[in-house]
Amino acid sequence: MPARTGAEYLDGLRGAREVWFAGERVGDVTRHPILGRPARTLAELYDLQWSPERRDLLTYPSPSTGRPVSLAFIQPRRVDDLVRRRGMFKTWADEHGGLMGRTPDYLNAILAGLASARAYFEKNGPEYGERIVAYYEHCREADLCATHTFVDPQINRARTQSQQADPDVPLHIAGESREGLVVRGARMLATLAPYADELTVFPSPSRTHPSDASRYAFAFAVPVSIPGLSFICRESFDTGGPAADSPLTTRFEEMDAVAVFDDVVVPWDRVFLKGDIALANGLFRFTNAFTHGIHQFVTKNLAKAELVLGVASLVAETIGRTELPYYQQLLGEVVDAVETLRAYLRAAEADAVLDQHGDFVPNPDIISTARNFFPRVYPRLIEILQLIGSGGLMATPTERDLATPEIAGDIERYYQSATRMGKDRVRLFRLAWDLACSSFAGRQVLYERFFAGDLNVLMAGRFTAYDRSAVVERVKALLARAAPPPAP
Ligand SMILES: Cc1cc2nc3c(=O)[nH]c(=O)nc-3n(C[C@H](O)[C@H](O)[C@H](O)COP(=O)(O)OP(=O)(O)OC[C@H]3O[C@@H](n4cnc5c(N)ncnc54)[C@H](O)[C@@H]3O)c2cc1C
Repeated sequence: MPARTGAEYLDGLRGAREVWFAGERVGDVTRHPILGRPARTLAELYDLQWSPERRDLLTYPSPSTGRPVSLAFIQPRRVDDLVRRRGMFKTWADEHGGLMGRTPDYLNAILAGLASARAYFEKNGPEYGERIVAYYEHCREADLCATHTFVDPQINRARTQSQQADPDVPLHIAGESREGLVVRGARMLATLAPYADELTVFPSPSRTHPSDASRYAFAFAVPVSIPGLSFICRESFDTGGPAADSPLTTRFEEMDAVAVFDDVVVPWDRVFLKGDIALANGLFRFTNAFTHGIHQFVTKNLAKAELVLGVASLVAETIGRTELPYYQQLLGEVVDAVETLRAYLRAAEADAVLDQHGDFVPNPDIISTARNFFPRVYPRLIEILQLIGSGGLMATPTERDLATPEIAGDIERYYQSATRMGKDRVRLFRLAWDLACSSFAGRQVLYERFFAGDLNVLMAGRFTAYDRSAVVERVKALLARAAPPPAP
């Protein structure tokens, strides 16, 4: 099957799956009054793959069938492939303003990178290399939506998995059968799980959570509908109200869920790594798969910073703040963030590296710097939006108020601004509120702070892995030149 349409994607979600939401098991997420809305947003993204204007931007001919498949699956053999792939990422990200962190293109790019690194998996046994390549091709050809879960539950973060009071809580190997590997336990989070076809389960790319025993060392993938796998969703930030009241929450609430494995039997052809602690902990350090994923989310971050710039500019213009130097400076900070992200992307592609597998990889040093930049800058961008909107972000009556005759006239008059009458101003400020102040907004900030791992750990890794030898030698030479001449 080539690239899917939105309707085909929604059909795929209707199979049996165990999703728990607000105390109930959801039968069909696509028809659920709240969970159904983001499913339709994702379906719109899939539909773009068949729109005459976007198709060439979003797909490329499958290497095995020649039919169009998502460009996010491309294994970049030329620098231009990276540039085209970024165009694909950006086309989708602009549709959701970067607010959906886990659109399928993210995992597609990681899977392509893992398949290229088949030699790494073969160190665990030749069959593991064949399986990762076959799985990648399966996802590419069926255009599946995959998500991932990396991190163990927060039981006691000062202890390793084996040292926990109940070492069976972290996901672990519970046994083996003729059919497959039996796994039991939980993983802390899987964003997008109710909307995914596939759950990939890998060791964490962050070094905060390494495996400490062979029963915790594995990599595999299962269909979300596999027996024994259930997801416990957090509450939704979408209250089911009109889209105009919460224009972002109602469209882009991608959901996060804890994944519980109750003796799930992972078919052997979906087990990619088993029992080797060093290989598990090194998976994302010694392959470039995650670097391809970073390429996707830095592009998504650019779209997100651009969204903040657009909203902040409109809010500022609407209430006459763009003429005041203080607000111009704040908006200038947002411009700098946008252009810094754009520059990182261009530089990482221009200085792309040809890796040992024959793939071009966005320059790992530059793209890692871009990754570490955003968790620090995004909270500031949202703070700036709050500073610009200030109290006006609370002068935000609902659609119901706007439709209430007794107060509609007052709202039209007393909520007017320099450039908009009441109703229009309220709609803009509700959008700004949804981006800067709502529960959805708070989750967006938390997501950017943590989804790629804890920043402190990432920063420490940056320092320890960075090749500083040349600059250190230069300073030593400078010291030698500055040393006092030997006494006569
Ligand atoms: C909205 C959201 C969505 C997410 N979606 C997913 C998902 O889909 N899949 C997935 O796998 N994960 C997901 N995550 C989880 C994310 O991967 C974790 O939050 C992240 O790895 C951090 O783990 P933690 O929160 O347990 O914090 P920890 O890693 O335990 O860190 C907590 C604190 O302890 C400190 N710390 C811990 N260890 C060290 C150390 N060695 N050195 C210095 N400081 C240390 C850190 O500085 C940090 O402040 C998501 C998170 C969020 C917030």
